[in-house]
Amino acid sequence: MVEIGEPRWRWGQLAEAIYRQRIAEISEITTFTKSLRQRLVVEGWSVGRPEIVQVFRSADGTERYLVQGQGGDDLTVEAVWMPEGDNGETGDGSDGREVSDARDSEGAEAGSGRQRATICVSNQVGCAVNCQFCLTAKLGLQRNLSAGEIAGQVVAVLDRHGVEVGRDRVNLVFMGMGEPFLNYDSFMGAVRLLVTEGGLSPRRMTVSTSGIVPGIERFAHEPAEVRPKLAISLNAPNDAIRGEIMPINRKWTIEAVVEAVRRVQLRPRERVTFEYVLLGGVNDRPEHAAEVARLVRKSGLPAKVNLIAWNPGPGIAYDTPQAEAVETFRRALADAGIPVYIRKPRGRDIYAACGQLKRTVEG
Ligand code: SF4
Repeated sequence: MVEIGEPRWRWGQLAEAIYRQRIAEISEITTFTKSLRQRLVVEGWSVGRPEIVQVFRSADGTERYLVQGQGGDDLTVEAVWMPEGDNGETGDGSDGREVSDARDSEGAEAGSGRQRATICVSNQVGCAVNCQFCLTAKLGLQRNLSAGEIAGQVVAVLDRHGVEVGRDRVNLVFMGMGEPFLNYDSFMGAVRLLVTEGGLSPRRMTVSTSGIVPGIERFAHEPAEVRPKLAISLNAPNDAIRGEIMPINRKWTIEAVVEAVRRVQLRPRERVTFEYVLLGGVNDRPEHAAEVARLVRKSGLPAKVNLIAWNPGPGIAYDTPQAEAVETFRRALADAGIPVYIRKPRGRDIYAACGQLKRTVEG
């Protein structure tokens, strides 16, 4: 706005139009004068957001979107809408039933007609981290998304579902394609846009990292008013197994990751989440559960563990764990006094579940 000779406060009007009213055309910005709108169009400016070009709908109500980026190429990423969430937020202080915070309690009132959902967005096209159980890894890294492209996925999904921020209870997880901490500036840029312009609360946002230590260290310095909650994709009880399924562990060990996480100043009642994808016969045995319990206790972190039964993907040679093994694992952690939750598999039939996102229409 300043660049084109307009007063700085015009940015507030523009941001309001894009992030709150979710307009998609300059002609819809009613707070701008007609002559300003015309001038912007004539000078070749445009507003917009990543476009949902394909929708896959699961029997459980989950929707997976193929989203066209705005990088001037034809690359697409994926975002997911999970009505009622996926249990991932349970026990982390964002669930109104468990917290005494006034805003959360209000959000949980029954019979209010409010929507509850979790939106999962992507941070990169593909991913370079190469976790062996993940379909996205097969793409390699194609490019980083911009802050606008990350925030824009959220705006596009909010718009599609007519979500009213403040009325509806929507959680946001940065757990789609890509490693957010390897595209740190865009990821945090998107968070700041969504918080300051979109009115979303960082307490309802969770970022998941595979354990990029320099990224966690930067994250530890973010002010609480824009810092999402943190999840670590642990997936193994020790460095030997983790190194096999997540080669990144050879660079940053579990201890190095935990050490970095300790520097994050958690809010009252906030917990760090350890995500744990159970791979049949690989990391799902009772002795592994005991080891995870020791690891979490030794970390000294207020933490919870989210268990995810691995979702099969084409060309990946792992087995889904037995239901009994999942339950035994859960019980072992619970008996050790560790808050533990099983994430509901969402949208498995449309390849929308964890680790299944891949830029593809063949799913
Ligand atoms: S699990 Fe996440 S960090 Fe690992 S390869 Fe897949 S997208 Fe990348």
